[in-house]
Amino acid sequence: MKIIMLGAPGAGKGTQAKMIAEKYGIPHISTGDIFRANIKNGTELGMKAKSFMDKGELVPDELTVSMLLDRVGKPDCKDGYVLDGFPRTIPQAEELDKALSGRNEEIDFAVDVDVPDENIVKRMSGRRACLKCGATYHMEHIPPRKEGVCDSCGSELVLRDDDKAETVQKRLQVYHEQTQPLIEFYTRKGILKTVDGTQDMKDVFGAIVGILG
Ligand code: ADP
Ligand code: AMP
Repeated sequence: MKIIMLGAPGAGKGTQAKMIAEKYGIPHISTGDIFRANIKNGTELGMKAKSFMDKGELVPDELTVSMLLDRVGKPDCKDGYVLDGFPRTIPQAEELDKALSGRNEEIDFAVDVDVPDENIVKRMSGRRACLKCGATYHMEHIPPRKEGVCDSCGSELVLRDDDKAETVQKRLQVYHEQTQPLIEFYTRKGILKTVDGTQDMKDVFGAIVGILG
């Protein structure tokens, strides 16, 4: 099963994608996590991506698409995957379609986690991320067992630079301009499914499982 998670930054794509990956036994692929790992390891790709990410802008398609296509070509992706944070532009979606149709494959579901902008800023300021294993928490809604420490790997939790209030506003603007048109794109293909992302994370997951089967 091949699934795309759509939604504003902070809508809960990563939270849900992780649970989907566990339940269906498919890899969770987050382009944001791949960029952050590259930044941490000081790679050339990481250095290029950082300048855009810090400003709340999208990393250019030419860097992002090749990185993602390379990843979904790996053997662990043969039975499917859940994409979190990709595609984020129409050209990215078209490139993905082109690559998949070349292999006689297609995306099965595009799940839009719908959360209004007013809820987003609050979510993002409370988000704490583990830069080592990619786990995310929320100080109020989904706190770690020990404050500031990742439950999964014991590393320090941080407020991401791009989760600061002023950058979040920019990311929301970028989302509406460049990513939201994908809702129409996948509606036309007949694979868009919308879930109410303002519910408790377990209820959001229940709605998604109801769709995926
Ligand atoms: P995205 O991947 O879409 O950017 P995340 O999954 O990282 O979003 O979620 C953003 C923040 O909101 C995180 O701190 C996460 O723990 C929290 N969160 C996710 N889902 C919910 C929910 N249903 N209710 C409340 N908080 C949530
Ligand atoms: P995320 O972890 O999904 O919130 O992504 C964090 C940041 O990484 C985004 O604000 C972008 O700067 C960059 N990024 C992640 N995925 C993409 C993508 N598909 N296209 C362009 N930039 C991306």
